[in-house]
Amino acid sequence: MKNIHVLAIPYPAQGHVMPLLEAARCFTSNGLKVTFVNTDFTHKRVMMSAGANIDCPSDLMHMVSIPDGMEPCDDRNDLGKLTKSMFQLMPAKLEELINDINKNDDEKITCIVADYCMGWVLRVARKMGIRLALFCPSSAAVLALSMSVQKLIDDEIINNSGVPLKDQMVQLSASMPLMDPANFVWACVGDSVTNQIIFEYLILEVKKAAEAADHIICNSTMELETGAFTLFPKMLPIGPLLATNRSTRQVGHFWNEDTTCLTWLDQQPVGSVIYVAFGSFTIFDQHQFEELALALEDTKKPFLWVVRPGPSGSMDYIFPSGYLDRIGTRGKLVSWAPQQEVLNHPSVACFMSHCGWNSTMEGVSNGVPFVCWPYFADQFFNKTYICDIWKTGLGLNKDETGIVTRGEITSKLEQLLSNIMIKENALSWQEKVMDCVGAGHSLNQNLNKFIDWVREGNDHAQVQETCK
Ligand code: UDP
Repeated sequence: MKNIHVLAIPYPAQGHVMPLLEAARCFTSNGLKVTFVNTDFTHKRVMMSAGANIDCPSDLMHMVSIPDGMEPCDDRNDLGKLTKSMFQLMPAKLEELINDINKNDDEKITCIVADYCMGWVLRVARKMGIRLALFCPSSAAVLALSMSVQKLIDDEIINNSGVPLKDQMVQLSASMPLMDPANFVWACVGDSVTNQIIFEYLILEVKKAAEAADHIICNSTMELETGAFTLFPKMLPIGPLLATNRSTRQVGHFWNEDTTCLTWLDQQPVGSVIYVAFGSFTIFDQHQFEELALALEDTKKPFLWVVRPGPSGSMDYIFPSGYLDRIGTRGKLVSWAPQQEVLNHPSVACFMSHCGWNSTMEGVSNGVPFVCWPYFADQFFNKTYICDIWKTGLGLNKDETGIVTRGEITSKLEQLLSNIMIKENALSWQEKVMDCVGAGHSLNQNLNKFIDWVREGNDHAQVQETCK
């Protein structure tokens, strides 16, 4: 019996692997077989973490890996180096993998679903005659921006290397939010060399892949991003891709989740806890870390704070003297949280976040107001959505030395927690977003449309083979 077989390939970062795995679980629950291709490095991390327990029919989800071209000890947080290395080595490795899988006629790959940041997959798909869909784990607006680079170059808003030339806000269409060129996703990833590599090897590939792909599926909703979806109707919203929607655990964690924070949350009053987490990339210097620690102490409120270990696996930060004794059980510190379950917990009052797109979707879907502290890439733009468009949060400002002070943090937390309008907005957006989920609703219809397209590919291939 011939399987309908999807090959899914994420960009190797936490915020890309998790939502594509969630999409892949939707495919397997619709009877499709999925081969999920991580880089060797990511594969090891995912399999070692507790999240490797992927609860879908095991014969339908197959986790495999190919090399990313870097040495084992190389720094994969150097996104420029990683992106360039993958671009050079991975097409050949992916082709080898597919050839290997395709040796078995019943297992042949029906289509590839590639993260939009892996635009080079298009070359492999074309060469091998396999249909391609793109997956967007970022906002649809950021993908729309990446698809518009040629227009931005023609309008002299950026140069050929992606460097912003004008200090003026840009709007892709009348219904889209204003964007600051200094915050274009490729202009704030790292130093100028990294930014240029990201522009050349990643962003310039997006447009070609997006034009050639049969479908682009996005972890977002029409209601949240009407402007972007109207501008590029080829983008199909299938979000929010939340494990908690389907009462399952989130999978694909790079670190082990510390579930003791859920028991701790059970003991806190409803709507009392400040949840503080900055995703998988954000790094603070010691001074900034201390300001945040002291601000959380000053609030006198219960807080749950994710303090991630550094690349060495050990804790890189030093707490202020006597800090842990002073906060006692009022503050719960974990190195990695089951975030979706945390945000879904009634004790949580607000989310201090770096505004990664997944964290943004998870916060919105749970009606939680945000204190926004973007770090890099698309996070500045996501903050604009939260603070200026949906009005479900407040942003933190840096002082003249570039620090977000203890006073600024406590003051914004106080303002947010006493602001009834923001909480009402958060609940109203939650209602709109969660209304799309469930049988017969728009997201399921879009997902079904996509799955029908995958199945059609198989029917087509089978007809071709019978005619041979
Ligand atoms: N996350 C988690 N536990 C944590 C912090 C984050 O499970 O302690 C998850 C979070 O739910 C989200 C992902 O990690 O799904 C982070 O993705 P996001 O796009 O928010 O940020 P990134 O890590 O890509 O900067």
